[in-house]
Amino acid sequence: MARSFESTRDNNIKATPSEAIVMGLSQDGGLFVPRDLSTIKLSTEDMKDAGFNQIAKQIIGLFFNDFSEEQLNESVNGAYDEKFDSKEIVPVVKVGDTFIMELFHGKTIAFKDIALSILPYLMKNAEKNCNSTEEIIILTATSGDTGKAALEGFKDIEGIRIVVFYPEHGVSQVQRLQMITQEGGNTHVVAIDGNFDDAQSAVKVILNDEIMRAGLKAKNIKFSSANSINIGRLIPQIAYYFSTYEKLVRDGEINRGDRINFVVPTGNFGNILAGYFAKQIGLPINKLICAANENNILRDFINTGIYDTNRPFIKTMSPSMDILISSNLERLLYYLSDCDNDYIAGLMKDLATGKKYEVKDSIKEKLKEEFWSSYCNEEETMEAIRRVFQTYGYVMDTHTAVAYKTYEDYIRATQDRTKTVVLSTASPFKFPGSVYSAIYGPSDKDELALMEELSERTGLLIPEVVNGLGDKKVLHKRTCKPGTMADEIMAIISEDQND
Ligand SMILES: *Cc1c(COP(=O)(O)O)cnc(C)c1O
Repeated sequence: MARSFESTRDNNIKATPSEAIVMGLSQDGGLFVPRDLSTIKLSTEDMKDAGFNQIAKQIIGLFFNDFSEEQLNESVNGAYDEKFDSKEIVPVVKVGDTFIMELFHGKTIAFKDIALSILPYLMKNAEKNCNSTEEIIILTATSGDTGKAALEGFKDIEGIRIVVFYPEHGVSQVQRLQMITQEGGNTHVVAIDGNFDDAQSAVKVILNDEIMRAGLKAKNIKFSSANSINIGRLIPQIAYYFSTYEKLVRDGEINRGDRINFVVPTGNFGNILAGYFAKQIGLPINKLICAANENNILRDFINTGIYDTNRPFIKTMSPSMDILISSNLERLLYYLSDCDNDYIAGLMKDLATGKKYEVKDSIKEKLKEEFWSSYCNEEETMEAIRRVFQTYGYVMDTHTAVAYKTYEDYIRATQDRTKTVVLSTASPFKFPGSVYSAIYGPSDKDELALMEELSERTGLLIPEVVNGLGDKKVLHKRTCKPGTMADEIMAIISEDQND
């Protein structure tokens, strides 16, 4: 029988895995979750000697059990192939006593590639499983990395169009160039005069606008999402927690059954939530360490149980973590409240009305049991990049540096010497300006010039996919305000029809 997913806010709203992927977001604004997570189990014994693709296939098949064997094979093998510049897909390197999980070997050199390489395949097959012939328009808000990864993933896929909204002044030059030079007849990119939270909130409202939905239905079109609010983004991410564990067992670094820690540079709480899912289904994880930048709302929440967005939004050198409303936290709270939909609906109402909520004591305790959290400021980020390069010759990007420094704080605070993996979510060449100045001091040159210099001085090769970025033709020039995103989408739809 197909597994049942439900809205975090209402257990009367149910969906099969395929329906949940196609819809992206539940119509009441909640997020789709499997209620029976605690009964879904996977033994690491079964993963012995498995490569990344096999592990991904097992995990995805376990959750999305209405996909056929053939659909799973097509999706996994189509996603994880030579597009990645490492055979292992997610290699792990040892830096001092710490393991670094490199999630940036895909087409856009950030960790979003792992899930967004496979999401188009999952969505196409899910459409088939739902017997739907509607065209899908994917709406995506990005803090910089999701946008490009989604554009690459969905480029030229028949029956799907994609519109990406990015904060005009909130992304790095490399991130912006990657998006506005995007090729593919079905891709659209719009700069908005606002931040990521503005973009994400507006996308959620548009996804649930009943009048728009009815108007589109008449044209045989529907919306979906490529943000991590889509369960099809989240589940594939569980794979690298398992594959890394297997690698450490294979290399003799740990014995099967040993518990390890993971440190996750966190923004929308998708990546670390995949780690929580991995633990729930059986991966021996001790602590999940949630690293924040100066937008340290998650650190405060994990330590106090109070989620308060009444604070300034700070632009940092780790822009993909510049987020104050972490959508996936809602999924975690659903599980920590023992799947109490009404309770979650209440918290989200508090958030919508007073911009804050406070969880009950039992959840505060569980948060502290499962997680540990701290944050890293701008100076500490630079210092960590410089120090790790000087000590080990390893070049970290700014997001990875936030995680690395937070891990050092963890050791100091807890004396816990459990083997630990730091998740590296982007290549240093995605943020060459900040990385270069951290190591070699400030420079007036632009990011593309610093990319070259970073390569020359460190001896690291510039990844093929960003080489020559400055010479590419700019293909996307649309801009709008968060309040007019819906109009922009309708304009794109009617222009396309006039083509
Ligand atoms: C998206 C992103 C993050 C944050 O991941 P979440 O799943 O949103 O918590 C961290 N680092 C980089 C480089 C990213 O692109």
